[in-house]
Order: sequence, then C-alpha cells, then structure tokens
Amino acid sequence: MAYNPLNHPFMDVNSDNPEYRDWMRYDAQGRPLITRHMGWTRFYEGCLNSPLREQIRERVREVVTNYPVDLMYFDGPYEGMDQEMHFCHSKYCEAAYQKARGKGVPLQDGSATLQDLIDYRQWMAEDVVVAFMHEIADMVRQVRDVPVVFNDTGLLSRGWRARAFRYVDGFMFEAADTPEQKLFNMRLGQSTGKVIWTYISSHTEYNSEHLKDKSVRGWYSAPVEGERLELDAAVATAAGAGYCYWGLNRLFYLPQDILEAPSIRSLKAVFDFAQENGRLLRSVSPRPQAGILTGAQTIQWYQGSFFVPQAYRNYYYGAWQLLKDMGYDAEPFLDYEMTAERLAGYKLVFVPNAACLSEAQCATLTTYVEAGGTLLATHLTSIADEFGRPRHDYGLSELFGASLKSPEPLEIPDLYLRVISSGKLIPQDPQVLLFQTAGSAEVIAETHDRGHRRTLGPAVVTRRQGKGRTIYIGSGLEAIYEETLNASLREYFRSLLDPILASTRTHEVEFRPGLMSQFASSQDTLVLHLLANTGNIWKKLLVQEEFLPVKDVRVRLRLPQGRSANSVALMWSGAKPAWRVRDGWVELTVPQVTMYEVIRVDLA
Ligand SMILES: [Zn+2]
Repeated sequence: MAYNPLNHPFMDVNSDNPEYRDWMRYDAQGRPLITRHMGWTRFYEGCLNSPLREQIRERVREVVTNYPVDLMYFDGPYEGMDQEMHFCHSKYCEAAYQKARGKGVPLQDGSATLQDLIDYRQWMAEDVVVAFMHEIADMVRQVRDVPVVFNDTGLLSRGWRARAFRYVDGFMFEAADTPEQKLFNMRLGQSTGKVIWTYISSHTEYNSEHLKDKSVRGWYSAPVEGERLELDAAVATAAGAGYCYWGLNRLFYLPQDILEAPSIRSLKAVFDFAQENGRLLRSVSPRPQAGILTGAQTIQWYQGSFFVPQAYRNYYYGAWQLLKDMGYDAEPFLDYEMTAERLAGYKLVFVPNAACLSEAQCATLTTYVEAGGTLLATHLTSIADEFGRPRHDYGLSELFGASLKSPEPLEIPDLYLRVISSGKLIPQDPQVLLFQTAGSAEVIAETHDRGHRRTLGPAVVTRRQGKGRTIYIGSGLEAIYEETLNASLREYFRSLLDPILASTRTHEVEFRPGLMSQFASSQDTLVLHLLANTGNIWKKLLVQEEFLPVKDVRVRLRLPQGRSANSVALMWSGAKPAWRVRDGWVELTVPQVTMYEVIRVDLA
C-alpha cells in the first residue's frame, strides 16, 4: 500500500526553493496563505490550479507505475488546510475561475452576493478539488487496476473534498470525540456504499487546553494508553469498518518487545478477535429500522442568526443517541445522497434540523410519507433551499401541517413542553420556533413559558398524509438530549416512536447508561455487539479513562419467522450464557460487559 498526499502542506516557509512562489495560494492582497501542521513548523499552502497540480499527478504516476502496490491511499486532496475556506487569488486560480465562470474570484469582505459565493464554492469543490481526486483515481486505474482510497474525515464539514468519495473505492474516517459519535460516522460512511476505514487512537491526543498554540498536540510518541484503545477498536469492529493503529510511531522507540507494553497487548487482542472472526463479521449486515437524514447542506450553507455551526452536530448525534438509547438501529445518510429507494427501506426517517433542503428533496420526503413511511422532523427543517436561501416558511409546510410565524427561533429560559394527552411538563429546548398549525394537523404538545405564565403555541404536531404520518417538533429536543441525556426526554421520544418501531425491532436491550448496541445478521446468524462506554470522562475530554463493567444486562433478540436458535455464544468474553427461546425471541442475561461483548446466535 502506498500513502500519497495530494497537496498536503510541505512547503516550509524557511525553504528557499524558488518554485514554491509559483505553487502557493495567495489572499486578495497577494500575501501567501500559511498553515500550521501538527505544531512542527509553518508551511505555505499549495494551489491546485498552479503547476503544482501536475507535479503531484506525476509523482503519483511514478509510484503506481514503478512499485507493485496493491492499494493506493491518498491524504487529501487539499486546497489549503488551516486557511482552506480562505479563497485563493493566485494568478492561476483567478485565470481558471475567469475561464470557467467569466468573473473574478469573489472577495470575502462582505461585498460578494450570496450567488457569487455559491458559484465560487461550487466551482472550487466540484471543478477543482473533487475533479482532481477523480482525475487521480482514473489515472491510477489506467496504470494499475488497484483500489483507490482517500481521507474523507471532513465528510461533514464545509471543506472542499467531501463529495470526492464518489470517485474512489473507499475512504478513511479518522476519529470522533466519543465512541457513540465514531459509530455514527462509520455507519454514515458506509451509507455511501463505500468501504470505510478508521484509525484506532487518533483522538487519543494530549488535552492541550493550557497550550498557547493548539496545533501543538502533545506526545506523539506516547498516545493515551489502555482501555480507550480497546473500546475504539471495538466500535470499529461493531460497525464492520476496517482499521489501523494510528500511533505506530511510538513503537519505533520502544526498547523492549512491543507486546510487553500492556496497552499494545490488549490492542492486539482486538485485532486478533477481528481476524479470527473475520469471516463471520463480514457475513452479517446491519438491519436499520430508521434512517437519519444528516444535514451536510445545512453545514455547508446555513446562515441563520441563531445558528451555532460548531454545535449543529448535536442535532444529528442527538437523533442517533436517542434511537440507540431506545434500542433501535438507525442508519445515518447524507441529505444529498437521499433517494426514494433508500427511504423505502426505513420504517422511520428522522430529519434532525435539516434547515437546507431542495424542492426535489422535499418532494422525495413527501412521497415517502404518502407511501406509508413515518417522518419525524425537527426545528428548522426545510426553511431554506439547498444553498441556504431562506424560504420564509417550511418547504414541507403542507406535509407538516405547520406554518412559520417567524423565520428565526426565540431563546427564552425555563420553557417546558406540555404533553396534551397527559398534561405532563417536561423540559423543552430553550430555543423554539413559533409556528401555527395548518390544515389537518393535530397538536400533541405545546410550549409552556413558565417564567412569563403563558403558552407559546404548538410545539409538536402530527398529521397523516396518504398511508403515512409526520411528526414535526418545532425545537431541537434531540440536541437537548445529546447535551443532557435527560430521561424524561428519552421517555417522551419512546411514546412517539415505540408505536411505529417496536413491533419490528430486531433486538431489545434494557437501558443502561453508556451501553450501546449494534445489530447485524445474515441468513443463519444474528450478531449483537454491546459497547459499554462507562468510563470516567465526564468533565473533560481527552484525559486518561478507566471503565467500569455493566453487570447483568438483559437482552432479547427477535428470531426470524419460522426459525429457532441452535446456539448462543458470547464471543468476546467466551462466557457461556444461560438462554432460552420464548415467543419467538432468544432471551438471555449477559453477566458482564466490560467495554465490549458480542452475542452470537446461530439459527436452526
Ligand atoms: Zn489557488
């Protein structure tokens, strides 16, 4: 396997290489755009429209022509790193953009129109960066027919290369902040139909809060050790993703046999497990009941005045966490990869605060509901088009049975959700949209403003259309769940979703904080991964963490119609569980989950 960077920073600002001046990115004032990388030095960023592009392509050609590679892995393609979103005004970029769009590269001083920005960003992403990956992948395949894989950790970012996965065989998602978020990203990657790879331990960096320069990220030769590595690997195994160990550089300096280091020994056990059970683990597939529409367009384009870009992920991670904590498997997918065929596979489509949706995407969701699907949408969903141009009402207004009273949400302390059927008050998101019902919608909860002794109007409405149903929530309850793990919110979502999903659930695990399941099956085997993220990181991320076992977990797995169970095994611990079959379910109690366990049911 060959690692090839595609315009990774390499032009040291202290170098006197005269060619660099011709390869660099420049701002509108003609100053070079400079990046830090891992705290080592400062580099000029490279321009993909400059002659550097050919240099990179020819270097890749040299590798793939002259070396017997089985796989080509690419870091990038990059058009800038720290300054990626700073538009490049090099003479090459200006000339290329003039040729493509008949105008100059827009300024970022507020003078450009939204349309100018849309035109430029579309061009830079699709016609420059993604096109470069496409060109490289095609060239590789002409020279040597091997898989092409690249780094698309920025799949959910404003970066240029996110959509380049279309032209390769697979991609790397490096790391997330938590195991739950990592599993989400593995599954999101797989929803594109590509092979997914991940690093074990790349987020085990030093917690650098006190460092002045945050690009200095600590002890590369000794990443955080121990159980977090095992859990990280178990998450990748549960997702069915491939993985490699990120911290190999530390091993070069170990004076003793590397397996004498306890953390490496326990890490090796996870790789051994994946290898020994590779055939089984590759033979099973997840069976998601729900899809989670993930708002890549909203990340790219949404500009609302109450929108906090860094926290937008709390909505889609919150939807995922809620479904996981209710024991339902979901598959996150990208908004721009939505098709009617994909939706048809889901009992429920959860749309967490997808502000930016096109007319065609709204129509696809409507058709899904008419054909019998259930749509759960929240907050700003569909209030702008796919480029963030505001609509002033929901694009899905008719389907929701809701009409906006104000295009921006309100933030008020001490709001409660009053459930109409029970009168019960539970915490509401302090950021709510004001809307009124339209058509045949039924209000099932309203917002109670306790501090001002008033009701702010509907909070949750439901409506039937065709054979299906919508539930619209005019706030971000799922983000509140991600931020609080509040039990009354979880119970409220249960009351909304159990009637839709419970009858077809594939498995049931009693709720235990930190315990997360991932189900997969084949014709003859059911596999349930249990991941117990019960460590001691509560106040700060990235510190050393130890884990407590979760004891006596009651689990049920639904048997396919007409089948029974031959055997039940606990693959990770090797323990022999007591189990029985009752009413079409396999029932067992897992004595202990210390970070990881895999239940295997072989069908009769
Ligand atoms: Zn450029």
